[in-house]
Order: sequence, then structure tokens, then C-alpha cells
Amino acid sequence: MKHFFTLILISMSVSAYALQISDSVFISPSDKVVNYVMSTADYDSWILNDDFRKSEQPSVITKKLYQYFKDDFDMIMLITNEKERPQTLSYYGVNRSVANNVEGIGMGRYSNSSYYGSDGKLFSLMYLPYLDAIKYGPTLHEFCHCWANFAIPTVESGHWGICGGNTKGQLGGFKQSTLLTNVDGIANKYSVESFGTYANGGNSVPYNEMELYLMGMLPIDSVHEFDAFLDVPPESFQYYDESKTRICFTSDTRIHYTQASLIELLGKRVPDCTNSQKEFKALFVVLSKQPLTSDEWTSYESGIGWFCQTSDDGINGLYNFWEATRGVGAIDPSGLSFSLKSTTPINYIDQDMTIDVRMLPATIICSESFRVFNLSGQDVTNRNGSLPSAIYIVHTAKGVKKVWVR
Ligand SMILES: [Zn+2]
Repeated sequence: MKHFFTLILISMSVSAYALQISDSVFISPSDKVVNYVMSTADYDSWILNDDFRKSEQPSVITKKLYQYFKDDFDMIMLITNEKERPQTLSYYGVNRSVANNVEGIGMGRYSNSSYYGSDGKLFSLMYLPYLDAIKYGPTLHEFCHCWANFAIPTVESGHWGICGGNTKGQLGGFKQSTLLTNVDGIANKYSVESFGTYANGGNSVPYNEMELYLMGMLPIDSVHEFDAFLDVPPESFQYYDESKTRICFTSDTRIHYTQASLIELLGKRVPDCTNSQKEFKALFVVLSKQPLTSDEWTSYESGIGWFCQTSDDGINGLYNFWEATRGVGAIDPSGLSFSLKSTTPINYIDQDMTIDVRMLPATIICSESFRVFNLSGQDVTNRNGSLPSAIYIVHTAKGVKKVWVR
């Protein structure tokens, strides 16, 4: 009976506690989101002055995080704790390339990771200004920028511009199969189904073949031919019909890309898609002025959990990373406490209770008198001081906490 009671307490405790790393750094109850608390002045300046793009703050923050975390992350995604996009920022998301180790995507090898405090693992630092951007985009778009578009010249730098694909791309571009030529009997006039030159509706479209190829998710054999158009007079680019279902434009430079011409231009992708990395470990960090409330933790955990889940979400017209990569790619945000350095002090906190529990190696220290149980329900209080590294349950008169002793 006692055993049964203990198990119930364990399951209650699993989702309730955030982990405190320092005065300003917390890990979410599900171990997959970090909260970094900034001073009010720094946070306000970030929003007002676009400090992500215009200051050293991003590297100050990542360097601080690397004091506590091991160099385990391929990407770091910062998100400011805003319900809506701040009007002072002109964008919905940004990807700052940190390093590149891939050949054949139009970008040389380089690494700037030490500037951010990484020993070489980190290759991208991204930023989304508000909560809903995680679910509705541009999350997929920003992840795509880790590899694209550095490959071909377009009218929209870094994006596909007026360029075809098997489907409309995350970085813009039209559906190649809708291209009509010689429109209105004019030799250099074209029309296509409506599209965006740098995006196509956030997370509502999956990656197209060329994007998946550059990302290392598809072989070049899977990329169908497409056209990119340059020298398009801006005034010629307009809706073709009243219902705005098609766009027309004129162009004197139509470049036809085939698998062979892409390889000739870019060289082979190294590593190719049989050897490329497809699972990425990402550190999602919510920036805020105050520690997140439990409702806020829930919102971010749910958005990030949805984006990173490696299964069909059952939602039509919205793609997470796994869905957008056809089940080939995965982003892993989980297990953050296991990426903490062994020197990092940790403290499990419960916003509803005031028990202070701290862990030293093999030792639990608590502000209340307490008993310690292992996950099998055995009372191991008399072993405190020589506890093997594991998760334990600390019982006090005020409540129960799950703790991790290393
Ligand atoms: Zn972009």
C-alpha cells in the first residue's frame, strides 16, 4: 500500500517542477525549454532596438548559457516572451549562421562558434520574436536558412525569389508545374500560380525538393528540373487575374536547372544524403523579464513539443519539422538537464511551495526535515551523502520534490 502511494506521488511530481540553474536561468518541467531572465533594461532594449541583429547581446546570452551547458547543441533558438510580434521589429524570424561544415551548398566551410561560447558544435543561432511564431512560422523557414539559399542567384537574396520547385518553397518560390510561357503572345512574359518570393505562408507549406536536397534530406536524384528567373522589372511582376490566383512577370533571363547543372554549379554535397546529419539537438531559450509562469511554461513547451514531435500531428495545412522533411529529419529539444556541466549547481523549484532542495554530489540538502526515496519507492534517507547518481523523490511535511543527484 505504501509502495502504491509513493508511485502516485512520483507521477504527480513529474510535470510540476522547473529546474533553477542560477538567478536568471531555468529549465522547464519537461526538460526541453530554457528560460533566460534578462534585466528589464536589457529586455526592453532588445525589443526596441533590435538587439538580436544590432548588438552583442546574443553572444553575451549564449556565452552565459555555455557556462552551465555542455557544447551539445547544433542550434540555439531564442524566443522573446511576447504574445504578438513587436511592431518595433521588422521581421518574423532571423537565422544567424554561426558555422558551416557542408560542401556543395554554395557556402564555404567556416566556424565562428567560439564567438558564441561553443567549442565548435554550434552552427546556427536563430531568433523568433514571439510565441506563436513557433507553431505558425517562420520556424521551418529559419531552420531552412541553416543550409539555403546560398546555392543559386535569385531576385530575393538568400531566398528563392522567382524560382520554381516541385512545390512552393519554405524560402519562397512558385510551383514549377504551374508555369505558363509566351503569355498573351509575348515571348518573355510568364505566369504562375500565386506565390511569395521569400516565404509562402509560414509553417503551412512543407520543404520542397531543392530545400530538402540542400538540407541533406534527399538525394539529388529526387530534385526535379526547375527554372529561376532574373532581370524581372518590378513593375512587370503583378497579379494576372482579378481573383489573384496567378502572377505574371516578364524576364529576359530564364535559367533552367537540372540535376546535372546543379552538380556542375555547386559540386557534390558532402556529406551526401546517405551520410548527412538528419537529427539535430536544439536549445530553445525563452527570453523574459520575469521568470516564466507555469502557464507560460506550458505554452512554450506545447509549441516546441509540437514543432519537434516526430510523428504526424493530424493537423491539415500545418507542418512540424518531421512532417516538413517527409519524416526524414528531427529536432531534439529534450533532456536538457543531462546537458548540464557536472559543475553546474541545480535547484528544483516548485512555484507553489517554498521547500528549498539543493543537490551536492551524492547529497541532498533541504530546508525542511525530509526523507529520500528512490524511484522504486525504497527509503534511502540513511544513504544520503553517498547516493548513487539518479533521480530521487524528496518527501517533506510541506510536499514532495523530484530531484536529480549527480
Ligand atoms: Zn528568410
